[in-house]
Amino acid sequence: MNRKNNKVIIVCDTTTEMLMADSELRSCNIVFQLVPTPSQYGSICSTSIALEETYKSQAKAVLANIKINYNIYPYEVKRLTGLMAALKKEGLTTEFQVIINKIELGHELTKEDIIILLNAKEALEVKTLFSIADRFRKEIVGDVVEIRGAIEFSNYCAKSCNYCGIRKGCNSTKRYRMKEEEIIEAAVELNRLGIRTVILQSGEDDYYDIDTMCSIIKRIKLETKMGITLSIGEKSREDYLKLREAGANNFLLKIETTNREVFKNIHPDNDYDTRIECAKWLKELGYVNGSGNMIGLPGQKIEDIAEDILYFKEMGIHMIGIGPFLPATDTPFENLPPGSVDMTLKAIAVTRIVCKNVFLPATTALASIDPDGQRKALEVGANTIMLISTPEKYRASYQLYKNKNMVDIKSAIEAIKNANRRLPKYLKLTEKEEL
Ligand code: SAH
Ligand code: SF4
Repeated sequence: MNRKNNKVIIVCDTTTEMLMADSELRSCNIVFQLVPTPSQYGSICSTSIALEETYKSQAKAVLANIKINYNIYPYEVKRLTGLMAALKKEGLTTEFQVIINKIELGHELTKEDIIILLNAKEALEVKTLFSIADRFRKEIVGDVVEIRGAIEFSNYCAKSCNYCGIRKGCNSTKRYRMKEEEIIEAAVELNRLGIRTVILQSGEDDYYDIDTMCSIIKRIKLETKMGITLSIGEKSREDYLKLREAGANNFLLKIETTNREVFKNIHPDNDYDTRIECAKWLKELGYVNGSGNMIGLPGQKIEDIAEDILYFKEMGIHMIGIGPFLPATDTPFENLPPGSVDMTLKAIAVTRIVCKNVFLPATTALASIDPDGQRKALEVGANTIMLISTPEKYRASYQLYKNKNMVDIKSAIEAIKNANRRLPKYLKLTEKEEL
């Protein structure tokens, strides 16, 4: 894979124009990637087209055939100045200093560089890594923490992922399915809080056929105008298209790991290539594309985590959920050790440095293994928190893992304040919630 950066970026005025350019360039066999628009050219969730400089004139000729408004810029990597000058060099290895210099010069990091960063063990190295990630976060996405709400509407699942507490055949959990009305009500409640994005998550449950899902999406749109993220697993391209046309904006389908062997070992029913194909479809269909991984999976090495981070970058992923693997009751992985908080934080930090203009959640899994985990994540590159907004009577049954932390608005506010960050202006809180 070519990881050198000698590219330009095509930034269209609207998503529709970007999608038109995407299909025109594709039909002319021009090689390009869809990437999150760098912060200097657009908002965090918009997508642009990055391609090698050598294809630039060919692309311009192709785009002249369709009526769209766009600009072409050099695909410049965001740089931070003063990193080397501010460094306390004593105690930092030369190789660590070389990488920091590369970051300062705006050079792309290689897999080997990323491995060195993830391997940071000395307190000074870890502190340096975290402070660079925090500076990128501040300069690229600012101090406001985005808050989203998740409605976990069904814990039925046709799959048996070995790590998951709601896998098919897992008997420790009471199964539930929320009715369409209940889902809408929960979304309306989130809207009352001022939340702008709702995440609809479930096991892979065909009880909700595509028409039902489309109807739920349309009703939520009509009643709340919220952005809708789906996290409902693998579907056909046709189904993803229908859901998108019904109004879904974002889709979260985590790759979990880019190591094929590890992937196979944790997913008895999933095929790695199908998962990649799904991620590509989602991107082609104009979803804001969400992915992520688990840290501490059996057989996973640091090299694999480095490869995951490069995958997020190369696939132009916009939302990257990085959380520790946590054992779940009555699963084949019940007695395995959980993933490490420190490695999760390092992975978040390196992902911010490498992927830059993306949503990086302080995950629920991190809050579940460490009560202060979300504050820690916010201090090393994270900028999003997801509330568990499933109605109380169902909440306890959506146990993806043991001791899941039911992150609510109060605990989110606490983490945000403790990390010295800002609440979004759109929140409409009652006095009780603000305490
Ligand atoms: N069925 C959908 C959505 C539900 S699972 C899907 O699989 O995409 C959502 C996420 O929960 C998964 O992507 C996985 O990363 C996370 N998860 C599930 N079980 C977990 C565990 N035991 N430890 C940590 N994260 C887990
Ligand atoms: Fe089902 Fe998703 Fe859990 Fe796999 S991770 S068993 S698909 S809910």
